[in-house]
Amino acid sequence: MSNKPAKNREWKQETYENEKGTFTIFFDLCKGCGLCIEKCPTQVISWSENLGFMGTPAVKPRMEGCIVCGMCELVCPEPAISIIRKKKKPTPIQDNTPQEQ
Ligand code: SF4
Ligand code: SF4
Repeated sequence: MSNKPAKNREWKQETYENEKGTFTIFFDLCKGCGLCIEKCPTQVISWSENLGFMGTPAVKPRMEGCIVCGMCELVCPEPAISIIRKKKKPTPIQDNTPQEQ
């Protein structure tokens, strides 16, 4: 038996980004249940070449269609997906008050 302390574990992960935010998948935490694929409202999640901890494929998003809604993170039974929405840029205030004539 080795008495060496366990090395800090590095989680294998991949982050995908679009103008709305980021999608991070932690491959070692994905069990390949497919719930995120089923529930994504825009159907942009598919199986990945990377394997999860059960030896089954993990998932990856197609960010062009991702609306960063967070549904996949919500339904995932493991903490395998992290969605971070980018802050909206402040929009210039428009004065829509009708002008008196
Ligand atoms: S954040 Fe929403 S749109 Fe993007 S992959 Fe997840 S469920 Fe689909
Ligand atoms: S819901 Fe979570 S555990 Fe299931 S396939 Fe998607 S990322 Fe993997």
